[in-house]
Amino acid sequence: MGTGMEKAEHAEETEKTAHAEEAREAVAHDEGGPGDEGGPDGGTGAGAGRAARREAAVRAAVEQGLLGPGRPLVALLDVTGIRESAAELRAAFAAVTPPGTPVLHAFAVKATPLVPVLRLLHTEGIGAEVASPGELALARAAGVPPERTVLDSPAKTPAELREALSLGIAVNADNPQELARIDALLADAPARPAGLTPSRSSFGLRVNPQVGGGAIEALSTATATSKFGVALRDEGAREWVVRACLDRPWLTRLHAHTGSQGIALPLMARGVAEAYALAEEINRRAGRRQIDTVDIGGGLPVDFASDATSPTYARYARLLKETVPGLFDGRYGLVTEFGRSLLAKHGTVVARVEYAKSAGGRPVAVTHAGVQVATRTVYAPTAWPLRIAAYDAEGSPKEGPAVVQDVAGPACFAGDLLARGQALPLLEQGDYAAALDTGAYFFAHHYAYNSLPRPAVHGFTADGPGRVTFALVRPAQSLEEIVAESGGAHADALIS
Ligand SMILES: *Cc1c(COP(=O)(O)O)cnc(C)c1O
Repeated sequence: MGTGMEKAEHAEETEKTAHAEEAREAVAHDEGGPGDEGGPDGGTGAGAGRAARREAAVRAAVEQGLLGPGRPLVALLDVTGIRESAAELRAAFAAVTPPGTPVLHAFAVKATPLVPVLRLLHTEGIGAEVASPGELALARAAGVPPERTVLDSPAKTPAELREALSLGIAVNADNPQELARIDALLADAPARPAGLTPSRSSFGLRVNPQVGGGAIEALSTATATSKFGVALRDEGAREWVVRACLDRPWLTRLHAHTGSQGIALPLMARGVAEAYALAEEINRRAGRRQIDTVDIGGGLPVDFASDATSPTYARYARLLKETVPGLFDGRYGLVTEFGRSLLAKHGTVVARVEYAKSAGGRPVAVTHAGVQVATRTVYAPTAWPLRIAAYDAEGSPKEGPAVVQDVAGPACFAGDLLARGQALPLLEQGDYAAALDTGAYFFAHHYAYNSLPRPAVHGFTADGPGRVTFALVRPAQSLEEIVAESGGAHADALIS
């Protein structure tokens, strides 16, 4: 990660806490429907099951030697929980669309770029949204077929576009220049029988409905000046989009992603409503149903403050249907691109407490999980607070009075804190600290500060009381790999 990223993270950090609280409230006020309390929507009931599975997994990880003095850091993924979220997503949209409506749920690969996770989701009926050659390679390695893959990226090269077209992957163009590149590629395509579409790919155009931002500036995609898509409210832009579609009969999709964490549901729904209204306008002027699919993006926020699934997919799908009924009457196919909401609650990173000390009256547990696995939390702690759970040396939940303490990471800078002033049973040497809800955008997004190794990731399933089975998803990075990836084969490069 370069300084640009660091700057962005620091900008994020300067976001006012007041803003974050406002939006949290906005999200909270939107909650509370009876459907969110357990039951088929997967509310608190699912949360309790999840917490029980997590506790069993931490204990089993210690018992089975995945964690210990010589292995002080591990990341765990709850396979049952991932399957449940995938099923909830499918059920939520099936409940608001007529039977037979084409709906592709494409997981935003950037949220958890791990091949076995993509393959698990594929078996659960979830495709892949990719935004780089690397993410496309991961989706292909996982066996996600082209017709279940969507390519979105603000900076696609001609080579990437050519590959997507030859594979038949759906492409959402970001801007007029990209559309011109696609025009050229389609014109170049080998002669084809008249009447056939120029490529197996479906083509869409990303629009920015400019409905406004949320609590986290760095994650708000639909602001007036966002870098994504065609800014729909800019002068002349809407007419340009309509003409661009009328001139290109193969442009059949509109895409709007009003994300992400920190956006209240009604604002997300407003973004979808704008895309729908534009689709209707284009179709009216085309005199046919040219736009046949609306890609509504992802962005469902996650509750990082408890084990509850809130908001649920069911609630969001119902709100969308209330706000934009015409999009759900069977005339349009749908694509969704959820990332964080599918995986966040199912990941836990567990770190051994190497030392327990005290500074200025504050207890500090020095652990092996810090900026390398929780980069956003460390650089932008007010936007990305994490819940920490305390376990003893056997991996059992720690008992005892809550003590306000810091949970620090292993990196050599003062801000490397997983949690500041969190009240927990006092962590002692040899205990374990677990950072919860880290299945998306955390431990899978390694930051190589201090050459700290990527931790192993294990999936787990509980097959009976106390019986937990682990499956290796990604091995820990070895020291040899760190040296090789740091120019080890070119040691003399600068002196010869
Ligand atoms: C990041 C991203 C998503 C996923 O967002 P989440 O908040 O993880 O659901 C979906 N679509 C696009 C275009 C994105 O950039």
